[in-house]
Amino acid sequence: MTIEALEPHGFCAGVTNALRKAQTLLHPKETVYCLHELVHNELVVADLRAKGMVFVESLAEVPEGATVLFSAHGVSPAVRAEAEARHLMVVDATCPFVARVHQSAVAFASRGLQVVVIGHRDHAEVKGIVGEVAEPIVLESGSPQHLAALSRTRPLGVVSQTTMNADDVEDLVGKLRESYEVESVAEVCRATKERQDAVKAFDGDALLVLGSANSSNTRRLCEVARCRTFRAGTLEDVRQLDFTGVKRLGVTSGASTPEDFFHAVIRELEGK
Ligand code: SF4
Repeated sequence: MTIEALEPHGFCAGVTNALRKAQTLLHPKETVYCLHELVHNELVVADLRAKGMVFVESLAEVPEGATVLFSAHGVSPAVRAEAEARHLMVVDATCPFVARVHQSAVAFASRGLQVVVIGHRDHAEVKGIVGEVAEPIVLESGSPQHLAALSRTRPLGVVSQTTMNADDVEDLVGKLRESYEVESVAEVCRATKERQDAVKAFDGDALLVLGSANSSNTRRLCEVARCRTFRAGTLEDVRQLDFTGVKRLGVTSGASTPEDFFHAVIRELEGK
């Protein structure tokens, strides 16, 4: 079996930035809290937890006056207000690309447009964007059932979760333009797009995507592949996979998958 590492791999700029902030906060004598997973990768979260970071699902779990890190996925204004009310020391690791989507949503709403967010409503990033404006509509697909919620009386201002399937976002915006007045800045971030493009161009017979099951950009890489696909979050996962019959295996990774894990997997596969 030949192994082909697809480019790019390693942390994206947003994850690098979030980890840098996390590292500067870690202190043996002070507990630092992080609201939700800093990035959606089990290896990264386990490493930070081992170094003393405490992950919480709500600010109510953070003691008054303590330091709390907001994850790369961003938070809503209501969460910021709650942190202020509880006198928490906030360090914000929101990815700048996500922050830009928040700003676009606010700008659309301030001009009276109906804000439409293309994304998965349960994802932390979408929850943060949705909290920025009154009565936003989340579109998970272009199905008639989803489109029925759209306003016919106001133009639509469309934004997107940064880690969607780039083709799906483009198709959906095109569909909206057929029936509605639309202003759109909906697009995935560059890190997401480049990896999806590399995966779509890969013409081997199987692809191994390295990343966690709850990582949106990792899951999208599995979706856009044009061949048989495997996913693994840890080296143990990789060892359980059966590559029987695979002649040319591509290896790619989500934007929050550590580079040392990526290289360990390549070594493991080449040793097989
Ligand atoms: S995947 Fe994109 S949006 Fe998400 S952290 Fe990386 S650069 Fe930012």
